[in-house]
Amino acid sequence: MRDRGLSGAVLADADDVSARYPGAGVPALASLTFAVRAGERVAVLGPNGGGKTTLFRLLTGELPAAGGRLEVPAGRVAIVPQTDRSRLDYPVSALDVALMGAVSRTRWWRRPARADRALARTSLERVGLGDLARVTFGDLSGGQRQRVLVARALVQDAPLLLLDEPFSGLDAPSAERLERLLAELAGEGRGLLMATHDLEQARAADLVLCVNRVQVAFGPPAAALTREEIERTYGAALVPLDDDGPALLPPHHHDHA
Ligand code: ADP
Repeated sequence: MRDRGLSGAVLADADDVSARYPGAGVPALASLTFAVRAGERVAVLGPNGGGKTTLFRLLTGELPAAGGRLEVPAGRVAIVPQTDRSRLDYPVSALDVALMGAVSRTRWWRRPARADRALARTSLERVGLGDLARVTFGDLSGGQRQRVLVARALVQDAPLLLLDEPFSGLDAPSAERLERLLAELAGEGRGLLMATHDLEQARAADLVLCVNRVQVAFGPPAAALTREEIERTYGAALVPLDDDGPALLPPHHHDHA
């Protein structure tokens, strides 16, 4: 890996890593060679089935690497799921959801520790939801729910956050607010990987990792998001590009698989 000089400690480091699901003939993902350092926001760009979820499973340790060398010096890795996919019909409050981040430290038959409750409250304040701690999670807006899930990750106190399409379904003000929050978290030295289908979001990241069953590119947006790399990332899913550069993806490209 090229040394990035001023950037922070390495949180995840992959060297020719591949992933294979049990019983599958071919690797789900191959040739991953990248590093994420403290303070970096990395967009993970790829079509549906391209391997974004598989990459996250590798980083959490849920799926062991089938080949290559993967190191996650960050240790704790927090997943921030897509809020659309979270169950919304449970009568849990925003505070309850944030507190779930402490589950690995709490025995299930015990009441949460006072310190964890305090941390959950502080984390909700941190994401701008201190006033809504008692509100039922399902009654919050999509952007608010997404920030509750970020608060939960903060309660987990993980240096590396994996966000699954964090901006999907958010209106512009909510997206901007989340964007600022994520920039702050990176500024504090966390590393963020954000799965996305959105080229504009990828362009705004510090680094971009393009995957389509293999790693297609990794580097700063200007290098990783050339027309050629985007075509290799999306293949047939890509609509014709205009001369101003690759900008357009089919509106429902993520609903195909
Ligand atoms: P993405 O998150 O980018 O949509 P995935 O990581 O889910 O992509 O999928 C990458 C590849 O791995 C796909 O070909 C998919 O079919 C395969 N895959 C994903 N999960 C499993 C599984 N549990 N068992 C077998 N193959 C899987």
